[in-house]
Amino acid sequence: MIPLKGHLLVIGAHAGDVENMAGAVVLKHVRAGCTATVVHMTLGEAGHPTLAPAVYAEQRRQEIEASGRLMGAKVLALPYRDGLLPKTEEVIWQVCDIIRQEKPDVLLTHWKGSIHKDHIATHELVQEAIFFAALPAIERTLPAHRVRHVYYPENWEDMEGWRADVYLDAGDIWEEYLAVLRSHALMRGGVSSFRYLDYYDALGTTRGCLGGFRKAVALMAPPGSWVQRMEFLPALLSAA
Ligand SMILES: [Zn+2]
Repeated sequence: MIPLKGHLLVIGAHAGDVENMAGAVVLKHVRAGCTATVVHMTLGEAGHPTLAPAVYAEQRRQEIEASGRLMGAKVLALPYRDGLLPKTEEVIWQVCDIIRQEKPDVLLTHWKGSIHKDHIATHELVQEAIFFAALPAIERTLPAHRVRHVYYPENWEDMEGWRADVYLDAGDIWEEYLAVLRSHALMRGGVSSFRYLDYYDALGTTRGCLGGFRKAVALMAPPGSWVQRMEFLPALLSAA
């Protein structure tokens, strides 16, 4: 296969979101030659039943570094507090600047139909940042960059109105993906009552069944991209 060379940017609300919703997508494309940057808007430091947020934050920082190494991705962590991600212009400019700096061909982030306010905030902040990053009239240190393709990966907390538009074969990197998940205590169990590893491993099987692969991940395309423009129906163009 010819090596790929695009750049993938994934933006998640909490440490671990990038990994569980997009770890397989990152691995798949990095192994094929792409580069990737992952951004954690917060460290998800408020979710531990016994550890103080400051202590858990340090653990989470080590976990995102470890999972970033396993995925072969550059890791950025923003300084916002778990549960308190602010929807302000300052944050939008910060994400806008990251987009202009990283120049992704494809960006993945949360779908807006979420049960978690930080996930909804991330969706909204990123949508606005994509818009401003592409406008030459918005003068920042770096020149404008237009993100051509956005997808919303599958996340158990973001399922309201989400739909599977793309099935991506993840069979060849699935064990590496599980290793990425296991590099976070949250996924291994004992921190949350949610069975992350069981859920995402079983989801890979379910999406694989539906997509015709051993293991697969599904992505949602933005509603505006559902329209296809063509002169003839492809099946009739290719019919012998
Ligand atoms: Zn989250």
